[in-house]
Amino acid sequence: MGVRGYGFTGYGFWLLLVWLIPAAAHARWFEQTQPIMGTRVYVQLWHEDAARAEALINQVMAEMERINQLMSPYLEHSQLARVNREAAQQPVAVSPELFELIATANRFSALSDGAFDITFASLGHRFNYRKGVRPSPQQAKTARELIDYRQLQLNPDRHTVGFARAGMRIDLGGIAKGHAVDRGIDLLRRAGVKHAIITAGGDSRLLGDHRGRPWILGIKHPRGESSVMKLPLENVAISTSGDYERYFEVDGVRYHHIIDPASGDSARGLISVSILAPRSLEADALSTTVFVLGAEQGLKLINGMPGISAILIDHNGQITYSNDLVDPSAP
Ligand code: AMP
Ligand code: MG
Repeated sequence: MGVRGYGFTGYGFWLLLVWLIPAAAHARWFEQTQPIMGTRVYVQLWHEDAARAEALINQVMAEMERINQLMSPYLEHSQLARVNREAAQQPVAVSPELFELIATANRFSALSDGAFDITFASLGHRFNYRKGVRPSPQQAKTARELIDYRQLQLNPDRHTVGFARAGMRIDLGGIAKGHAVDRGIDLLRRAGVKHAIITAGGDSRLLGDHRGRPWILGIKHPRGESSVMKLPLENVAISTSGDYERYFEVDGVRYHHIIDPASGDSARGLISVSILAPRSLEADALSTTVFVLGAEQGLKLINGMPGISAILIDHNGQITYSNDLVDPSAP
């Protein structure tokens, strides 16, 4: 008796149901892939409104393209290209965002004793992996001496970047995609999206879970098309650096895109490094860093960083994990 009109059989309930059903019926996954930042950018999100979902995905893509226009070394008008052209003559003012990313990159250099170093480009720009071009031994020797993040003159008040030596160059290829993915995820989160993935090449970040289940992400086999393992993940970033992404071979030697500043050669200890971290920026920078450091030093670094995990693959296909993935009581 008394509950009629208030309970589940009441009039209000049916009204509510009529209002909810169409919304729930239209909620679904939306996705898009676009070539941006020299790679494939993929966005997938759960939404109840198709027009809004498409608009949000377009905003993420536009944000990625904005960052590309700012930071690409290949676009003549980008601020980064201007730094590379002029910073040896005079300090070049850049946007706070670019300045902050360069300063952050230098913190990863300090952390890794220069294994991660955006001035690798002083040498790196002499490679063309698509055309199989590499520097002569003399060019390589000269350029290698210009790799040193401490020769970057950063003025935090004026947001200027200077090069202490002529011939220096920088390239944010090891960290910019992570930054861009984080910006995209922040944008979606602010818009109220609860479930999404953004992937830019080897860098992915997950917002929420896959609606009651984890997302399943594979780590690519470094020498094949399949995956070596599948990981159930949610609310986390994962980045993979590999020697198979951009490379050419001469006489059986693989020249690939991750440069060890210490040797001036492609880093040769590992063939795949995946890092799990709360944000893509850290995952991206650390996957490149650990790739250069190799298994022993790389794992030492990651085992000292709570909340960060690593999965390494060496030339024999041997897989090694950071302590936290083997012993759950480790930090
Ligand atoms: P990732 O795929 O994230 O490992 O990034 C690889 C990219 O990082 C390369 O294509 C270069 O643009 C850049 N890179 C290569 N070697 C280094 C290095 N030692 N430190 C920082 N960035 C690097
Ligand atoms: Mg990286």
